Amino acid sequence: METSTLKIAVLAGDGIGPEVMAEAGKVLQAVAAQDGFTLDLKEGLVGGIAIDQAGKALPAETLRLCEESEAILFGSVGGPKWEALPAQEQPERGALLPLRKHFHLYANLRPAVCYAELVSASPLRPDLVAGGFEILCIRELTGGLYFGQPRYTRQENGELVAVDTMVYHESEIRRIAELAFRIARRRGKGLVSVDKANVLDNSLLWRKVVREVGQQHFPEVELKHLLVDNAAMQFIRYPRSFDVVVTENLFGDILSDELAMMTGSIGMLPSASLGAQREAGRQFGLFEPSGGSAPDIAGKGVANPIAQILSGAMMLRHGFGLDSSAAKIEQAVRKAIRDGLRTGDIWSEGTARVSTREMGDAIVRNLGA
Ligand code: NAD
Repeated sequence: METSTLKIAVLAGDGIGPEVMAEAGKVLQAVAAQDGFTLDLKEGLVGGIAIDQAGKALPAETLRLCEESEAILFGSVGGPKWEALPAQEQPERGALLPLRKHFHLYANLRPAVCYAELVSASPLRPDLVAGGFEILCIRELTGGLYFGQPRYTRQENGELVAVDTMVYHESEIRRIAELAFRIARRRGKGLVSVDKANVLDNSLLWRKVVREVGQQHFPEVELKHLLVDNAAMQFIRYPRSFDVVVTENLFGDILSDELAMMTGSIGMLPSASLGAQREAGRQFGLFEPSGGSAPDIAGKGVANPIAQILSGAMMLRHGFGLDSSAAKIEQAVRKAIRDGLRTGDIWSEGTARVSTREMGDAIVRNLGA
Protein backbone atom coordinates (compact mmCIF):
# COMPACT_ATOMS: atom_id res chain seq x y z
CA MET A 1 0.00 0.00 0.00
CA GLU A 2 1.18 3.53 -0.80
CA THR A 3 1.76 5.15 2.57
CA SER A 4 4.51 7.60 1.72
CA THR A 5 3.01 10.80 3.14
CA LEU A 6 -0.12 10.80 5.27
CA LYS A 7 -1.81 14.20 5.52
CA ILE A 8 -3.33 14.76 8.95
CA ALA A 9 -5.32 17.75 10.22
CA VAL A 10 -4.30 18.25 13.85
CA LEU A 11 -6.94 20.12 15.86
CA ALA A 12 -5.70 20.30 19.45
CA GLY A 13 -8.49 22.56 20.75
CA ASP A 14 -8.83 23.72 24.34
CA GLY A 15 -7.87 22.82 27.89
CA ILE A 16 -5.48 19.86 28.02
CA GLY A 17 -5.84 19.41 24.23
CA PRO A 18 -2.56 21.11 23.22
CA GLU A 19 -0.55 19.39 26.00
CA VAL A 20 -1.67 15.87 25.21
CA MET A 21 -1.56 16.49 21.45
CA ALA A 22 2.12 17.44 21.68
CA GLU A 23 2.84 13.99 23.11
CA ALA A 24 0.70 12.23 20.50
CA GLY A 25 2.58 14.09 17.75
CA LYS A 26 5.92 12.98 19.20
CA VAL A 27 4.86 9.34 19.39
CA LEU A 28 3.38 9.34 15.88
CA GLN A 29 6.47 10.93 14.34
CA ALA A 30 8.69 8.43 16.12
CA VAL A 31 6.71 5.44 14.90
CA ALA A 32 6.57 6.88 11.36
CA ALA A 33 10.38 7.23 11.33
CA GLN A 34 10.76 3.62 12.51
CA ASP A 35 8.21 2.15 10.12
CA GLY A 36 9.13 4.11 7.01
CA PHE A 37 6.21 6.46 6.38
CA THR A 38 5.92 10.23 6.59
CA LEU A 39 3.33 12.22 8.48
CA ASP A 40 2.38 15.69 7.37
CA LEU A 41 0.78 17.07 10.55
CA LYS A 42 -0.90 20.42 9.89
CA GLU A 43 -2.44 22.32 12.79
CA GLY A 44 -5.79 24.10 12.70
CA LEU A 45 -7.82 26.14 15.15
CA VAL A 46 -10.90 24.57 16.68
CA GLY A 47 -13.22 25.08 19.67
CA GLY A 48 -12.96 27.90 22.19
CA ILE A 49 -9.56 29.07 21.03
CA ALA A 50 -10.97 29.31 17.48
CA ILE A 51 -13.90 31.39 18.79
CA ASP A 52 -11.40 33.73 20.45
CA GLN A 53 -9.02 33.99 17.51
CA ALA A 54 -11.22 33.50 14.43
CA GLY A 55 -14.78 34.24 15.59
CA LYS A 56 -16.26 30.72 15.41
CA ALA A 57 -15.66 27.23 16.74
CA LEU A 58 -15.05 25.73 13.31
CA PRO A 59 -13.50 28.39 11.06
CA ALA A 60 -13.74 27.90 7.28
CA GLU A 61 -9.97 27.61 7.11
CA THR A 62 -10.00 24.67 9.54
CA LEU A 63 -12.76 22.93 7.61
CA ARG A 64 -10.71 23.38 4.43
CA LEU A 65 -7.66 21.91 6.13
CA CYS A 66 -9.74 18.87 7.14
CA GLU A 67 -11.07 18.48 3.61
CA GLU A 68 -7.54 18.48 2.25
CA SER A 69 -6.42 15.89 4.80
CA GLU A 70 -6.83 12.12 5.03
CA ALA A 71 -7.66 12.07 8.74
CA ILE A 72 -8.46 14.43 11.61
CA LEU A 73 -6.61 14.05 14.88
CA PHE A 74 -8.77 15.92 17.35
CA GLY A 75 -7.92 16.99 20.92
CA SER A 76 -10.87 18.28 22.90
CA VAL A 77 -12.87 21.47 23.02
CA GLY A 78 -14.77 23.54 25.52
CA GLY A 79 -14.36 25.08 28.94
CA PRO A 80 -15.99 27.50 31.37
CA LYS A 81 -14.95 30.54 29.33
CA TRP A 82 -17.38 29.66 26.52
CA GLU A 83 -20.27 28.15 28.47
CA ALA A 84 -22.37 31.32 28.42
CA LEU A 85 -22.49 31.42 24.60
CA PRO A 86 -25.70 30.38 22.80
CA ALA A 87 -25.79 26.56 22.50
CA GLN A 88 -25.17 26.48 18.73
CA GLU A 89 -22.04 28.59 19.06
CA GLN A 90 -20.45 26.66 21.90
CA PRO A 91 -17.24 24.76 21.15
CA GLU A 92 -18.69 21.22 21.05
CA ARG A 93 -21.96 22.03 19.28
CA GLY A 94 -20.21 24.51 16.99
CA ALA A 95 -17.25 22.34 15.98
CA LEU A 96 -17.50 18.65 16.72
CA LEU A 97 -21.06 18.07 15.58
CA PRO A 98 -20.62 19.98 12.29
CA LEU A 99 -17.42 18.03 11.59
CA ARG A 100 -19.23 14.72 12.15
CA LYS A 101 -22.04 15.86 9.89
CA HIS A 102 -19.85 17.34 7.17
CA PHE A 103 -17.77 14.19 6.79
CA HIS A 104 -20.71 11.76 7.26
CA LEU A 105 -18.96 10.02 10.14
CA TYR A 106 -21.32 7.11 10.62
CA ALA A 107 -19.41 4.77 12.91
CA ASN A 108 -18.18 5.56 16.37
CA LEU A 109 -15.57 3.17 17.79
CA ARG A 110 -14.89 3.31 21.50
CA PRO A 111 -12.54 0.75 22.97
CA ALA A 112 -13.02 0.21 26.70
CA VAL A 113 -9.73 -1.21 27.88
CA CYS A 114 -9.13 -2.03 31.51
CA TYR A 115 -5.43 -2.83 31.93
CA ALA A 116 -4.51 -5.65 34.29
CA GLU A 117 -2.35 -3.22 36.28
CA LEU A 118 -5.21 -0.71 36.63
CA VAL A 119 -8.07 -2.96 37.66
CA SER A 120 -8.23 -1.17 41.02
CA ALA A 121 -9.45 1.94 39.12
CA SER A 122 -12.51 0.01 37.94
CA PRO A 123 -15.61 0.48 40.06
CA LEU A 124 -16.41 -3.20 39.51
CA ARG A 125 -15.68 -5.91 42.06
CA PRO A 126 -12.05 -7.12 41.67
CA ASP A 127 -13.02 -10.72 40.90
CA LEU A 128 -15.12 -9.54 37.91
CA VAL A 129 -12.25 -7.63 36.28
CA ALA A 130 -9.18 -9.60 37.40
CA GLY A 131 -6.67 -9.60 34.54
CA GLY A 132 -8.44 -6.67 32.86
CA PHE A 133 -10.76 -6.63 29.85
CA GLU A 134 -10.93 -5.13 26.39
CA ILE A 135 -14.27 -4.42 24.71
CA LEU A 136 -14.66 -2.44 21.49
CA CYS A 137 -18.05 -0.75 21.22
CA ILE A 138 -19.09 0.17 17.66
CA ARG A 139 -22.00 2.61 17.61
CA GLU A 140 -23.96 3.69 14.55
CA LEU A 141 -23.72 7.47 14.63
CA THR A 142 -25.93 9.05 12.00
CA GLY A 143 -29.27 7.22 12.11
CA GLY A 144 -31.93 6.17 14.57
CA LEU A 145 -33.85 8.18 17.11
CA TYR A 146 -31.49 11.17 17.17
CA PHE A 147 -32.12 12.12 13.54
CA GLY A 148 -35.42 10.52 12.47
CA GLN A 149 -38.33 12.64 11.20
CA PRO A 150 -40.95 13.69 12.18
CA ARG A 151 -39.71 15.28 15.34
CA TYR A 152 -41.71 17.90 17.24
CA THR A 153 -43.35 19.08 20.45
CA ARG A 154 -46.88 20.48 20.05
CA GLN A 155 -50.23 20.92 21.71
CA GLU A 156 -52.68 18.11 21.06
CA ASN A 157 -56.05 17.82 22.82
CA GLY A 158 -55.08 20.33 25.46
CA GLU A 159 -51.66 18.93 26.38
CA LEU A 160 -48.11 18.95 25.05
CA VAL A 161 -47.01 15.95 23.02
CA ALA A 162 -43.37 15.30 22.04
CA VAL A 163 -42.47 12.98 19.18
CA ASP A 164 -39.11 11.57 18.14
CA THR A 165 -38.90 8.99 15.37
CA MET A 166 -36.54 6.05 15.08
CA VAL A 167 -35.62 5.38 11.47
CA TYR A 168 -33.09 2.96 10.03
CA HIS A 169 -32.56 2.15 6.39
CA GLU A 170 -31.29 -1.26 5.45
CA SER A 171 -28.23 0.34 3.80
CA GLU A 172 -27.29 2.15 7.04
CA ILE A 173 -27.41 -1.08 9.01
CA ARG A 174 -25.53 -2.99 6.33
CA ARG A 175 -22.74 -0.38 6.28
CA ILE A 176 -22.09 -0.48 10.03
CA ALA A 177 -22.51 -4.27 10.17
CA GLU A 178 -19.89 -4.76 7.46
CA LEU A 179 -17.46 -2.54 9.33
CA ALA A 180 -18.12 -4.35 12.62
CA PHE A 181 -17.64 -7.77 11.01
CA ARG A 182 -14.41 -6.64 9.33
CA ILE A 183 -13.02 -5.48 12.66
CA ALA A 184 -14.29 -8.55 14.52
CA ARG A 185 -12.68 -10.83 11.91
CA ARG A 186 -9.32 -9.13 12.47
CA ARG A 187 -9.58 -9.58 16.25
CA GLY A 188 -10.85 -13.14 15.90
CA LYS A 189 -13.14 -13.29 18.93
CA GLY A 190 -16.62 -12.92 17.49
CA LEU A 191 -19.20 -10.16 17.33
CA VAL A 192 -22.11 -9.30 19.62
CA SER A 193 -24.94 -7.29 18.07
CA VAL A 194 -27.17 -5.43 20.52
CA ASP A 195 -30.79 -4.52 19.78
CA LYS A 196 -34.31 -4.58 21.22
CA ALA A 197 -35.80 -7.07 18.79
CA ASN A 198 -38.50 -8.17 21.26
CA VAL A 199 -40.12 -4.71 21.03
CA LEU A 200 -38.90 -2.57 18.12
CA ASP A 201 -39.46 -3.02 14.37
CA ASN A 202 -36.20 -1.13 13.92
CA SER A 203 -34.43 -3.86 15.84
CA LEU A 204 -36.07 -6.65 13.85
CA LEU A 205 -34.65 -5.07 10.70
CA TRP A 206 -31.30 -4.51 12.45
CA ARG A 207 -31.11 -8.17 13.46
CA LYS A 208 -32.14 -9.42 10.01
CA VAL A 209 -29.57 -7.31 8.16
CA VAL A 210 -26.73 -8.03 10.60
CA ARG A 211 -27.46 -11.76 10.33
CA GLU A 212 -27.50 -11.57 6.50
CA VAL A 213 -24.21 -9.67 6.33
CA GLY A 214 -22.64 -12.29 8.58
CA GLN A 215 -23.97 -15.25 6.62
CA GLN A 216 -23.12 -13.78 3.22
CA HIS A 217 -19.69 -12.28 3.83
CA PHE A 218 -18.30 -13.26 7.22
CA PRO A 219 -19.37 -16.86 7.96
CA GLU A 220 -16.16 -17.40 9.95
CA VAL A 221 -17.11 -14.72 12.53
CA GLU A 222 -19.25 -16.02 15.37
CA LEU A 223 -22.28 -13.71 15.76
CA LYS A 224 -24.45 -13.39 18.86
CA HIS A 225 -27.48 -11.17 19.40
CA LEU A 226 -28.25 -9.62 22.77
CA LEU A 227 -31.19 -7.51 23.87
CA VAL A 228 -29.97 -4.13 25.08
CA ASP A 229 -31.26 -4.47 28.65
CA ASN A 230 -29.56 -7.83 28.96
CA ALA A 231 -26.34 -6.45 27.40
CA ALA A 232 -26.22 -3.66 30.00
CA MET A 233 -26.27 -6.33 32.73
CA GLN A 234 -23.97 -8.87 31.08
CA PHE A 235 -21.21 -6.27 30.52
CA ILE A 236 -20.98 -5.72 34.24
CA ARG A 237 -21.34 -9.36 35.21
CA TYR A 238 -18.99 -10.88 32.59
CA PRO A 239 -16.83 -8.09 31.11
CA ARG A 240 -14.13 -10.52 30.02
CA SER A 241 -16.50 -12.48 27.82
CA PHE A 242 -17.02 -9.62 25.33
CA ASP A 243 -14.80 -8.41 22.52
CA VAL A 244 -16.52 -6.45 19.69
CA VAL A 245 -20.04 -5.10 20.23
CA VAL A 246 -22.08 -3.34 17.53
CA THR A 247 -25.27 -1.41 18.11
CA GLU A 248 -27.47 1.45 16.93
CA ASN A 249 -27.12 5.11 17.87
CA LEU A 250 -29.13 5.51 21.10
CA PHE A 251 -28.16 2.17 22.63
CA GLY A 252 -24.52 2.81 21.68
CA ASP A 253 -24.56 6.24 23.28
CA ILE A 254 -25.55 4.74 26.61
CA LEU A 255 -23.62 1.47 26.48
CA SER A 256 -20.34 3.06 25.39
CA ASP A 257 -20.43 5.29 28.48
CA GLU A 258 -21.24 2.33 30.68
CA LEU A 259 -18.25 0.46 29.24
CA ALA A 260 -15.95 3.48 29.65
CA MET A 261 -17.00 3.85 33.26
CA MET A 262 -16.29 0.17 33.89
CA THR A 263 -12.59 0.80 33.12
CA GLY A 264 -12.41 3.68 35.60
CA SER A 265 -9.75 5.53 33.58
CA ILE A 266 -11.23 8.11 31.22
CA GLY A 267 -7.80 9.63 30.46
CA MET A 268 -6.79 6.32 28.85
CA LEU A 269 -9.62 5.86 26.37
CA PRO A 270 -9.42 6.89 22.70
CA SER A 271 -12.21 6.91 20.13
CA ALA A 272 -12.70 7.03 16.38
CA SER A 273 -15.54 8.29 14.22
CA LEU A 274 -15.28 6.82 10.76
CA GLY A 275 -16.71 7.95 7.45
CA ALA A 276 -16.29 6.91 3.85
CA GLN A 277 -13.97 4.09 2.97
CA ARG A 278 -11.42 5.40 0.45
CA GLU A 279 -9.96 2.03 -0.43
CA ALA A 280 -9.53 -1.30 1.32
CA GLY A 281 -8.13 -0.61 4.78
CA ARG A 282 -8.26 3.19 4.48
CA GLN A 283 -11.16 5.15 5.86
CA PHE A 284 -11.58 8.86 6.56
CA GLY A 285 -12.07 9.52 10.25
CA LEU A 286 -11.87 11.78 13.24
CA PHE A 287 -9.81 10.39 16.08
CA GLU A 288 -10.07 11.82 19.59
CA PRO A 289 -9.90 11.02 23.31
CA SER A 290 -13.15 9.89 24.91
CA GLY A 291 -12.82 12.50 27.67
CA GLY A 292 -13.19 16.25 27.48
CA SER A 293 -10.84 19.22 27.81
CA ALA A 294 -10.37 18.74 31.59
CA PRO A 295 -10.18 22.47 32.39
CA ASP A 296 -9.53 21.62 36.05
CA ILE A 297 -6.01 20.38 35.23
CA ALA A 298 -5.27 22.27 31.99
CA GLY A 299 -1.89 23.96 31.69
CA LYS A 300 -0.37 22.08 34.62
CA GLY A 301 1.44 19.41 32.62
CA VAL A 302 -0.24 16.61 34.57
CA ALA A 303 -2.90 15.37 32.12
CA ASN A 304 -2.74 11.79 30.95
CA PRO A 305 -1.69 11.83 27.27
CA ILE A 306 -2.50 8.15 26.71
CA ALA A 307 -6.05 8.66 25.33
CA GLN A 308 -4.65 11.09 22.75
CA ILE A 309 -1.71 8.85 21.90
CA LEU A 310 -4.00 5.85 21.47
CA SER A 311 -6.29 7.98 19.28
CA GLY A 312 -3.23 8.32 17.05
CA ALA A 313 -2.87 4.53 17.07
CA MET A 314 -6.54 4.16 16.10
CA MET A 315 -5.91 6.60 13.26
CA LEU A 316 -3.07 4.46 11.93
CA ARG A 317 -5.11 1.25 12.19
CA HIS A 318 -8.57 2.34 11.04
CA GLY A 319 -7.65 5.37 8.95
CA PHE A 320 -4.65 3.95 7.12
CA GLY A 321 -4.61 0.18 7.67
CA LEU A 322 -1.22 0.43 9.44
CA ASP A 323 -2.04 -2.26 11.96
CA SER A 324 1.50 -3.12 13.02
CA SER A 325 2.44 0.52 13.67
CA ALA A 326 -0.75 0.95 15.70
CA ALA A 327 0.02 -2.22 17.67
CA LYS A 328 3.52 -0.93 18.32
CA ILE A 329 2.10 2.19 19.97
CA GLU A 330 -0.37 0.14 22.00
CA GLN A 331 2.44 -2.15 23.20
CA ALA A 332 4.54 0.88 24.15
CA VAL A 333 1.64 2.22 26.22
CA ARG A 334 1.16 -1.16 27.92
CA LYS A 335 4.85 -1.28 28.77
CA ALA A 336 4.73 2.19 30.36
CA ILE A 337 1.82 1.04 32.50
CA ARG A 338 3.55 -2.25 33.34
CA ASP A 339 6.67 -0.30 34.32
CA GLY A 340 4.59 1.54 36.92
CA LEU A 341 4.47 4.99 35.30
CA ARG A 342 1.31 6.91 36.21
CA THR A 343 -0.06 10.36 35.61
CA GLY A 344 -2.06 11.79 38.52
CA ASP A 345 -5.43 10.44 37.36
CA ILE A 346 -4.28 6.80 37.56
CA TRP A 347 -1.65 7.09 40.27
CA SER A 348 -1.75 4.75 43.25
CA GLU A 349 0.59 3.98 46.15
CA GLY A 350 3.79 2.26 45.01
CA THR A 351 3.77 3.62 41.43
CA ALA A 352 5.80 6.49 39.92
CA ARG A 353 3.91 9.74 39.38
CA VAL A 354 4.96 11.29 36.05
CA SER A 355 4.07 14.40 34.07
CA THR A 356 2.32 14.50 30.70
CA ARG A 357 5.65 14.93 28.95
CA GLU A 358 7.42 12.19 30.93
CA MET A 359 4.67 9.74 30.02
CA GLY A 360 4.96 10.71 26.33
CA ASP A 361 8.76 10.36 26.42
CA ALA A 362 8.52 6.92 28.04
CA ILE A 363 6.09 5.74 25.37
CA VAL A 364 8.43 6.99 22.62
CA ARG A 365 11.33 5.11 24.26
CA ASN A 366 9.21 1.94 24.48
CA LEU A 367 8.35 1.90 20.77
CA GLY A 368 9.56 -1.34 19.31
CA ALA A 369 11.28 -2.23 22.62
P1 NAD B 1 -13.76 15.96 31.19
O1 NAD B 1 -13.61 14.63 30.55
O2 NAD B 1 -13.04 17.08 30.55
O3 NAD B 1 -13.26 15.86 32.71
C1 NAD B 1 -13.84 14.96 33.66
C2 NAD B 1 -12.76 14.58 34.71
O4 NAD B 1 -11.83 13.69 34.07
C3 NAD B 1 -11.97 15.77 35.20
O5 NAD B 1 -11.67 15.61 36.56
C4 NAD B 1 -10.70 15.72 34.38
O6 NAD B 1 -9.59 16.30 35.04
C5 NAD B 1 -10.52 14.23 34.16
N1 NAD B 1 -9.82 13.94 32.91
C6 NAD B 1 -10.34 13.94 31.65
N2 NAD B 1 -9.38 13.67 30.76
C7 NAD B 1 -8.24 13.51 31.46
C8 NAD B 1 -6.88 13.23 31.11
N3 NAD B 1 -6.53 13.05 29.82
N4 NAD B 1 -5.97 13.15 32.09
C9 NAD B 1 -6.31 13.30 33.38
N5 NAD B 1 -7.57 13.57 33.78
C10 NAD B 1 -8.51 13.68 32.83
O7 NAD B 1 -15.32 16.23 31.31
P2 NAD B 1 -16.10 17.53 31.82
O8 NAD B 1 -15.41 18.09 33.02
O9 NAD B 1 -17.49 17.10 31.89
O10 NAD B 1 -15.98 18.58 30.63
C11 NAD B 1 -15.01 19.61 30.56
C12 NAD B 1 -15.13 20.36 29.25
O11 NAD B 1 -14.86 19.46 28.17
C13 NAD B 1 -16.55 20.90 29.01
O12 NAD B 1 -16.43 22.16 28.42
C14 NAD B 1 -17.15 19.91 28.05
O13 NAD B 1 -18.14 20.49 27.25
C15 NAD B 1 -15.94 19.52 27.24
N6 NAD B 1 -16.04 18.21 26.58
C16 NAD B 1 -15.50 18.12 25.35
C17 NAD B 1 -15.52 16.91 24.69
C18 NAD B 1 -14.89 16.85 23.34
O14 NAD B 1 -14.17 17.74 22.96
N7 NAD B 1 -15.12 15.79 22.60
C19 NAD B 1 -16.06 15.79 25.29
C20 NAD B 1 -16.59 15.89 26.59
C21 NAD B 1 -16.56 17.12 27.23
